[in-house]
Amino acid sequence: MIILVINCGSSSIKYQLLDMKNDNDFSLLAKGIVEKIGLPDSNITHKPTGKAKMEKTAPIPDHKVGMKFVLDALVDPEYGVLSSFGDIDAVGHRIVQGADFFSGSVLVDEDVMEKIGFCCDFAPLHNPAHILGIRAMQAVLPSVPQVATFDTAFHQTMEAPAYMYALPYEYYQKYRVRRYGAHGTSHQYVSRRGAEFAGLDLNDSRIITCHIGNGSSVTAVRNGKCVDTSMGFTPLEGMIMGTRCGSIDASIVPYIMRKENLTPEQMTEVMNKKSGFLGLSGKTSDCRDMCDLRAAGDERAKMVLDKLVLDITKLVGGFVAEMGGVDLIIFTAGIAENNAWLRRDVSNNFKYLGVKFDEAFNDTVRGVEAMLTTPDSAVKVALIPTDEELMIARDTMHIALQNK
Ligand code: ADP
Repeated sequence: MIILVINCGSSSIKYQLLDMKNDNDFSLLAKGIVEKIGLPDSNITHKPTGKAKMEKTAPIPDHKVGMKFVLDALVDPEYGVLSSFGDIDAVGHRIVQGADFFSGSVLVDEDVMEKIGFCCDFAPLHNPAHILGIRAMQAVLPSVPQVATFDTAFHQTMEAPAYMYALPYEYYQKYRVRRYGAHGTSHQYVSRRGAEFAGLDLNDSRIITCHIGNGSSVTAVRNGKCVDTSMGFTPLEGMIMGTRCGSIDASIVPYIMRKENLTPEQMTEVMNKKSGFLGLSGKTSDCRDMCDLRAAGDERAKMVLDKLVLDITKLVGGFVAEMGGVDLIIFTAGIAENNAWLRRDVSNNFKYLGVKFDEAFNDTVRGVEAMLTTPDSAVKVALIPTDEELMIARDTMHIALQNK
């Protein structure tokens, strides 16, 4: 089954085309990205498996034209991998916010579109772009099933004490203010794959997944189901991130707004785009650059990276207590997959639980599946590269088959 996976941002479309025989037997046919939609120098980079890469700069005014560029690249005589659009069996869309409407992936219909639209309030940068993406795909491939996979769905198994804020209950009733979490597709993928890799029974396991990238979150997974996660109403809550502040005392918000004369929108921008690594260092939101600064003796960069370790440690420790122990801690996403020192420093904070971390082996691995603890470690620690697209492709395949 040929599945196209689409991840639409406000000015970009990332895509992967997969040939799915079943959940574990698949091949990547092509992947790529359309960037700077709406700007004069929009471009597409298309990488077909086993062929040369195609790069094209052309005005791409909107997502509909962007989708047409993606499909044209897929059937291009030189760089294409399909003979016609008709070869695509289903399209899976990544959706950032599904609130408490969706606890799994669904076939898109008008009711689903309405609910994704309702959730725009909670994800104003993402959901409107997803709607544009789905509409554009429906226009160019009207008879192909479209499936929506939600970043929030995996977290819907949290119970009320974990998802409620201690605010007046009416705000939950009137405005659906509660914790929804994010990165759910990634946490679900790595917890499942990690259990398999570590030889654990997913249905009888306590796993903590650390998705540490530009956006970061940590999730507690008991018996394959999310019981708690660090992101909340929006992806702002939790630990320090590239440009997000993570959890702060809420009183700071009105205080700074008054002092700096900021509107709610400006304050939101400060907390989401000007804080985190960038805000604290004053120099960069990128972990690689931060490591270079630390190596050059920059004290603030060292403090930022120490805070990163501290924040993850506090979250993991809290979730260990919440689950009454842990069998497996998993590291994934850009920062955790590429920075051996981070995995080491966090893991060594859990020696008291019996973690025996294999530092020498850890130093040799990057972006591959690896067991980072010695065989006699009481708690296992693994590196599992995330694959959200594969998770979306699997769900899309199953839903398309059920609805054939
Ligand atoms: P996003 O949340 O945007 O998906 P990623 O998971 O791609 O983010 O992670 C981006 C982060 O990973 C950046 O801070 C980047 O510095 C870091 N990173 C990526 N590759 C490397 C690398 N080779 N070495 C160190 N850090 C890296």
